[in-house]
Amino acid sequence: MVELFATDKLKTLYPKVKAFLEKEIYPIELQLVHGPWLEAKERLDNKRAIAKTLGLWAPYLSEKEGGIGLSMIEFGQISELLGTSPVGHYALNCQAPDIGNIELMHQSASNDLKAQYLKPLMNGDIRSCFSMTEPEFAGSNPIEMGTTAVLEGDEYVINGHKWFTSSADGAAFAIVMAVTNPDASKYERASMIVVPTDTPGFEVVRNISVMGDVGGGYISHSEINYVNCRVPATNLIGEEGSGFMLAQQRLGPGRIHHCMRWIGICERAFDMMCKRAATRELRDGKKLGHQQTIQNWISESRAEINAARFMVLHAADKMDKEGSKAARMEISTIKFFVANVLMQVLDRSIQVHGALGITDDTLLSFWYRHERGARIYDGPDEVHKASLAKSILRQYGL
Ligand SMILES: Cc1cc2nc3c(=O)[nH]c(=O)nc-3n(C[C@H](O)[C@H](O)[C@H](O)COP(=O)(O)OP(=O)(O)OC[C@H]3O[C@@H](n4cnc5c(N)ncnc54)[C@H](O)[C@@H]3O)c2cc1C
Repeated sequence: MVELFATDKLKTLYPKVKAFLEKEIYPIELQLVHGPWLEAKERLDNKRAIAKTLGLWAPYLSEKEGGIGLSMIEFGQISELLGTSPVGHYALNCQAPDIGNIELMHQSASNDLKAQYLKPLMNGDIRSCFSMTEPEFAGSNPIEMGTTAVLEGDEYVINGHKWFTSSADGAAFAIVMAVTNPDASKYERASMIVVPTDTPGFEVVRNISVMGDVGGGYISHSEINYVNCRVPATNLIGEEGSGFMLAQQRLGPGRIHHCMRWIGICERAFDMMCKRAATRELRDGKKLGHQQTIQNWISESRAEINAARFMVLHAADKMDKEGSKAARMEISTIKFFVANVLMQVLDRSIQVHGALGITDDTLLSFWYRHERGARIYDGPDEVHKASLAKSILRQYGL
């Protein structure tokens, strides 16, 4: 917790979340991420029940909705703490992609959709997924898209091919991005539609193997065919043609959430690196940490993580005060900066652990495998850098 940004609410909550992670989550996390998902889910459901009893549930939701009503800057610091475990966010129902879908539906879904899908999602009774990217089109510019939703009577008929729909395995519904208005201007062609995963024609092709790991359940990414999927027209979120606008709304807070979580991973990997450096003996009482190269990595990592944290909290503060649109440049900046700090710190920590670092006996290999995507999803580095530079250069008249 950063003293400068520590509100009274945070001062009370932070130690409770820390104690919960230490007692309930850290001792079992390694088994959970390497075991079958259904087993992990059962054990995590028990932990979720404990979190609810302790009053830690979904801290970003308002108190009226069963949460704690944290601001973005408060949630940022809790999210960092949760990020120190790969299942921390899940334990408190703050995990992507559900948190993004919750925020999106909260702002833009009809009351019926809220009652049917959002409420059980907020309560942790079901999971969801977000289905936008397609293998045949560049996901970094999703204006081009093959999936269509054609209105027939009072139903949309959806056809398309998606992939990297994270956590689709076991999800109750997908929010699908599909072209509804092909003749509209390019940013007004697509819409977001809720598709229950038991709809005939919702066909999971496979869970995609990522660096040798197919995963399962919540920890997976699916390829999906939508084949004449019929859903009620009332499953539309917001207005027809508002898909891109809603995607932007969803991605703003989503990017901050990821950055906060990554700093938590960095802190854990850093802690592991320091413990290893302080204890691994090379020869005659000389420890790894006596080597200057290792000392450099420790110092560089410390400086980079501190910088990343302040940048993220600054972006969160701007978002709290001025909204997501005003914080666009800050969000682009942290998205690529923090993702690269994460890569560096994880890589150094693995290197300091030697062969142990690439085994599945520590969490480092899990994170290395699963977080390489950080530089790609929610906008690849290059797109954020280009967007930031354009905004800066605009101030110079270019
Ligand atoms: C772990 C993970 C989880 C994901 N989860 C989801 C999900 O739940 N739902 C979903 O819909 N999608 C998801 N995605 C997909 C993700 O959004 C896309 O991978 C991303 O938008 C990039 O699209 P692409 O893979 O088609 O790459 P492309 O668009 O083909 O880009 C390939 C590369 O080209 C470069 N590039 C692209 N544009 C530019 C540019 N303007 N200037 C310079 N270089 C450029 C970048 O290096 C980029 O990595 C996930 C991806 C990953 C890796």
